[in-house]
Amino acid sequence: MNNVGNCPECGKLCIKTAAGMCPDCYRLEQENEEVVASYVRDNPKSSVEEIHEATGVKEKTIFRMIKNGRFMDEFQVTYPCEKCGTDIVRGRLCEECNHRILKDIQDSQAKREAIQVKEKKDVAGKGMYTKNMTR
Ligand SMILES: [Zn+2]
Ligand SMILES: [Zn+2]
Repeated sequence: MNNVGNCPECGKLCIKTAAGMCPDCYRLEQENEEVVASYVRDNPKSSVEEIHEATGVKEKTIFRMIKNGRFMDEFQVTYPCEKCGTDIVRGRLCEECNHRILKDIQDSQAKREAIQVKEKKDVAGKGMYTKNMTR
């Protein structure tokens, strides 16, 4: 497969690796991940910020490792909820914000459905509904 493109890390035009980066960045990334992994082994309960400060590895890299499930279960790497900043270990939001968003979605869905019902009634009132039915 011809997989040439710009590396998202350094912007260089390159043949991408499976990770989507150029081979140089990929190698560096692997090294960084090793550094982070060994730090987390010694400090199983650390925040992304702490890891970043201790290892100098970009937070982006650490987040990617979290997303890839590198720290699941064994370790508790915490990072702030995207909405309120509470320490969380998985997903993007804390449970509270997740609930709130879920509720918001349900609320707006309920509202949408109410509007649809109303529109249907309006249409029926104008005689369009029956016309569609007899077609
Ligand atoms: Zn690169
Ligand atoms: Zn939150």
